[in-house]
Amino acid sequence: MKAISRRSFTKQLTKGAGAAALTSHIPLACAMKSSTQKKKLGVALVGLGSYSTYQLAPALEDTEHCYLAGIVTGTPEKESVWARKYNIPAENIFNYSNFDGIKDNKDIDIVYVVLPNSMHAEFSIRAARAGKHVICEKPMAMNVAECDEIIKACEAAGVKLGMGYRLHSEPYTQEVKRFVREKTFGEILYVSADAAYRSTSNPGQWRLNRKLSGGGALVNMGVYAIQSAIYATGQNPVSVSAQEFSTRPEYFKDTDETITAQFEFPSGAVANIMTSHNVRANRLFATCTNGWFELDPASTYIPLAGRTSGGPLDFKQESQQKLQMDDFAQHILLDTPNVAPGEMGKRDMIIVEAIYASIAKNGIKQHLDFKTNYGFGN
Ligand code: NAD
Repeated sequence: MKAISRRSFTKQLTKGAGAAALTSHIPLACAMKSSTQKKKLGVALVGLGSYSTYQLAPALEDTEHCYLAGIVTGTPEKESVWARKYNIPAENIFNYSNFDGIKDNKDIDIVYVVLPNSMHAEFSIRAARAGKHVICEKPMAMNVAECDEIIKACEAAGVKLGMGYRLHSEPYTQEVKRFVREKTFGEILYVSADAAYRSTSNPGQWRLNRKLSGGGALVNMGVYAIQSAIYATGQNPVSVSAQEFSTRPEYFKDTDETITAQFEFPSGAVANIMTSHNVRANRLFATCTNGWFELDPASTYIPLAGRTSGGPLDFKQESQQKLQMDDFAQHILLDTPNVAPGEMGKRDMIIVEAIYASIAKNGIKQHLDFKTNYGFGN
């Protein structure tokens, strides 16, 4: 942990308590507890690819409750570049082999795993065993069994586990959750959620290599569409049917290109999702008994936008990654709710596996039965 100046601490308290009182997922008791908070938590990024370089590291310069304390990289040339740029001391720089030594490093409280999907479980588990809190990027792992291993390791070590699901800390998404909770537009009847982009470059990239990615569009962008369908209905699905489409098999040799899936929810609401590495789409639309709401885009970094049958939505644009990492740091420091816990990542992987199972059986409906431990509907 790092001590922060009295001035920035006062600023942090003012902002923190105000924000906490206004934010539905942070109870007032927690806001009051923030008066005892004096430290920023140190974060180590594992994997210094594009997401760490262009989103997470810059966001960590603006976070109020955590800061970039260390790096873990398999590319030696990046060490001095990052050390200079972010003033990282040599003892806070690790590689994949000496990573376990992080357990003796007092500056690093949180390990943030930002590696190809096949490496999420290994590094999340090693981080937990080193006694560090863990943020794991999406998708949580290659399969449900690996998700269980990560959750088990974090529980055994007594450390917190959060997913890199930045949208749960973002105001447009929080507004959607409020519409559902307060039935602003009545009961939700139907949700359409698309999360897709067109991939044309470097067919050798790890995202198109099943051994490294665990799947194609579904595990990459599809996770956003699954999440949208769930928070726009406030429920976990009870069934899923799915279809796969392939139009560029010469490019998508190893992973899925386009998938559609339909969910049924306990209330009777239904959802259709589309995810693709071949078309561009980024939208959430819900029609309800007394109106409708829409986010478009719904899951890009910034800026999101939205409108409803009652008028446009307009929220302050802030780095989603900053908000997300501050939420997780406050969960550790103040025991505020974990807005994107590991169980949520596991739930989504259960749904991913059910979608692949439905496709393998020519679209036959797969039944889902989420018990209370995965019940993070909203
Ligand atoms: P990237 O390809 O830009 O970076 C991957 C990093 O892993 C690189 O530093 C690379 O050197 C390292 N690496 C180690 N072993 C590797 C191997 N065998 N093959 C390829 N790279 C290897 O990827 P990225 O876009 O930074 O994505 C990293 C993770 O972050 C993924 O799990 C991805 O799903 C997730 N991500 C999340 C978001 C979000 O909005 N939450 C956005 C982008 C990426």
